[in-house]
Amino acid sequence: MDVKVKSYNHYREETKYTLSLVFTVISMMVCVLFAISFIAIGANYAAYLQIIGAFVFMTLSGLLRRRIQTFTRYIAIMTSIVLVLIQGAIIFGSGYGFHYQIFPLIVVIFLLLDFNIPYERISIYGLSFLGIASFYVCELSPLKPNFTDYLVYEKYYYSISLFIAFMGLLIVLYYLSKEIFSARDQLYSMATTDALTNLYNRRTFLKRGEEAFKIAERGGNQFAVIIYDIDSFKSVNDEYGHLVGDVVLKSMAEVSRETIRETDLLARYGGEEFAILLPNTTPEQASVVAEKLRSKIEEHIISIAPYKINRSISLGVMGYHFSITSFDDLVDKADKAMYKSKLTGKNRVTVYDMTDPFYREKRQVNDI
Ligand code: GH3
Ligand code: MG
Ligand code: MG
Repeated sequence: MDVKVKSYNHYREETKYTLSLVFTVISMMVCVLFAISFIAIGANYAAYLQIIGAFVFMTLSGLLRRRIQTFTRYIAIMTSIVLVLIQGAIIFGSGYGFHYQIFPLIVVIFLLLDFNIPYERISIYGLSFLGIASFYVCELSPLKPNFTDYLVYEKYYYSISLFIAFMGLLIVLYYLSKEIFSARDQLYSMATTDALTNLYNRRTFLKRGEEAFKIAERGGNQFAVIIYDIDSFKSVNDEYGHLVGDVVLKSMAEVSRETIRETDLLARYGGEEFAILLPNTTPEQASVVAEKLRSKIEEHIISIAPYKINRSISLGVMGYHFSITSFDDLVDKADKAMYKSKLTGKNRVTVYDMTDPFYREKRQVNDI
């Protein structure tokens, strides 16, 4: 996954920009369609008003394309309110239902303006209030409609107005849910994975490991953990540079992913340290996986022109055992086994063995 890093403000501006443009273009189209229908029934003044509205929205979308945002959004919202007011309260009357278009407009107000910016927040309240007030002015207007000649069309326009209101709401909610879901997915992915290797991060590994531990503790499935660290990785950075080091890390992650089962959870545990959680696996089976991984990586040559780089890994394996009190403790033992692999010559697999005096000596040292 290619994550383009942009500032949060930029992201926010982009969202507002797209929504504003969609709003002005759709409003322009609605004005044009109303203008045509009003001409068809002979309501010329109402048609002129719609044509003026269409020009305003066209100009606003032109300005938006030039990235002029601040006033365009306010003018667009105000134009919509004024058009509804003149049509609903003065020209036709409330029976035509033009004022129902205020419903999606209120949602649009919340989307186009930013709740986090104080003056925009005040504008959201102000414009929403204006919208609701306009709705009631239309609904309760004491003015006699000027175009009583067209009363015969009232029920058709009423249906059309309701249809436009529903469609407007649908479009607005479509954009809103798309934004929310994509933001949520991005956040989830950022919180659970490592950006460089695309593997799960340490946090996810520990969380899923704790879950597996609780299940095993209640007599559920056995599981195991492999921890491994690239041998002499510092020299990669020193000899070829940090960027090459990053490519080596990515490549190691890829080989690891290809070697293990899909049900195993592979994570980047630290800088050049990886961890695997293997569900339904005994320590013996895990050591077979570890050995396979060790030999695959030993044979794997990473070509980064003009270099050819090859590094081994040292692994530690630990399986669930009832005497272990927590997942952290289990990982710690896998880590100690890996440490033993390092001390005994690197490029090898060590399965933690409780009876091995190596760990007892280490524990005594740690305890002091
Ligand atoms: P050993 O065989 O004992 O593991 O030796 P080593 O050189 O691999 O040991 P050490 O753990 O001391 O070195 C780890 C190095 O990994 C140090 C650090 O600069 C490098 N490293 C950690 N994270 C990254 C990373 O994201 N990118 C790159 N390029 N290097 C990293
Ligand atoms: Mg290392
Ligand atoms: Mg290390």
